Amino acid sequence: MRSLALALAAFATSAAAQTPAPTPAPAPQPAQIQPAPVSADVQRTIDRLREAGLQDVHGYEIVRDLVSEIGPRLAGSAQEARARDWAVAMLRAARFSNVHIETFPIPGWSWQRQEARIVSPSQQRLVVAALGNSPSTPAGGLEAEIVRFPDLPTLDAAPEAAVRGRIVFIDEHMTRTQDASGYGAAVAKRSGCPRLAAPKGAVACMIRSVGTDTHRFAHQGSAGRNVAIPTASMSPADAETLDALLEHGPVRVHLELETTRNPDAQSGNVIADIRGRERPDEIVLLAAHLDSWDLGQGAIDDGAGVAIITAAARLINALPRHPRRTIRLLLAGTEEPGGLGGDAYGRAHASEYHVIAAESDLGADRVYRFNTHFAESALPYARAFERALAPLGVVPGDNNADGGTDIGAVRRNGAPVVDLQQDASRYFDHHHTADDTLAAIDPEQLRQNVAAYAVFAYLAAESDWDFGATRPAAPAASP
Ligand SMILES: [Zn+2]
Repeated sequence: MRSLALALAAFATSAAAQTPAPTPAPAPQPAQIQPAPVSADVQRTIDRLREAGLQDVHGYEIVRDLVSEIGPRLAGSAQEARARDWAVAMLRAARFSNVHIETFPIPGWSWQRQEARIVSPSQQRLVVAALGNSPSTPAGGLEAEIVRFPDLPTLDAAPEAAVRGRIVFIDEHMTRTQDASGYGAAVAKRSGCPRLAAPKGAVACMIRSVGTDTHRFAHQGSAGRNVAIPTASMSPADAETLDALLEHGPVRVHLELETTRNPDAQSGNVIADIRGRERPDEIVLLAAHLDSWDLGQGAIDDGAGVAIITAAARLINALPRHPRRTIRLLLAGTEEPGGLGGDAYGRAHASEYHVIAAESDLGADRVYRFNTHFAESALPYARAFERALAPLGVVPGDNNADGGTDIGAVRRNGAPVVDLQQDASRYFDHHHTADDTLAAIDPEQLRQNVAAYAVFAYLAAESDWDFGATRPAAPAASP
């Protein structure tokens, strides 16, 4: 089973791990906490699930079906609604229980036209994408001189006279990292450009795409709530062209965006359960999101996550008996424009007891590190998960897990979360582009994810471990 891909990935991990050097632990460091014991019976099942995950075929089939039968799934669109129906049929066929859709209203947004070209000193097309919530340009487009800033602070510091009447170009590059930390830093310009440029009188924003590739694909993404001026991203290749021209003098660009806001759009979450045999009210939540941007097919973002958690749960559902706790799948709608699906789930299920939650939303490359966000008293359980995941090449992380957007509300409600942290080194080459297709998924690494989620979910659901979750207050007894 030790493939070249996994071996290379393991090498990448050990190289990357050198940066934050593992501290040789003084006194009561978490590393010295012994793992909670796992019975021989549970260990046998974990071993079986791991091997089955590494040979799983359903995960890849699920994402292939989703991207071919449905394709792109913009939040609030008819395509997203079709994806919910597809998911319900797929989950019922796989014999999950409690399979249903929970709809919620969203402010919808879509684009109809996104075009740009340099008009002087040369003439050529720019590959651009309207960013989510961008308003339209005037019909026929707008033409203005480009003013370039290397990052948001320099835009913030610029005098109004440098910006007024111009198209602001934020040229910041994104750093490639294994742990996706480069994204957090780079993504601020999507909403930051219009927020800072509009009050200074800019006519539009065009940012270098938030991505790590050098290709001629623009990366989509949300520009935030109340976007005051037309805002687009451009492909890294086109940003290079602008850079070259700007070295020699003024550059004028024509930009035409046509977008529509639909205040009455509808989205929805899809739920499916494996009902716990002893503690059905204690929920182990696995989440991913169904919506996607619409230039690509939403294969790595987040068809892969849908496939990984569903295939992992399928393996557990096929065991001779269900685990003691309920395992729930949340396939959320409307993650991309701001996590509205996760918020809706958190509101609708605030009275339920979520003992732990995890999310898969960083593509399909292998899980390399396991982080928790547990109560101090629960760290022996973190050690037990680490031990169970170690044969998959997963290294121990820290106790500062973030969880992710789809489980953000559940976490705020008091649920401990974990990160089965994926190798994000190449994720942002494809993320939110026309090139987010099935070809960006490595089936072998996807299977490693299926195995990791199956092992994690089973161990969490078969145990009676308390990770420090807040138990919701019992509903007041009615008289
Ligand atoms: Zn995503």
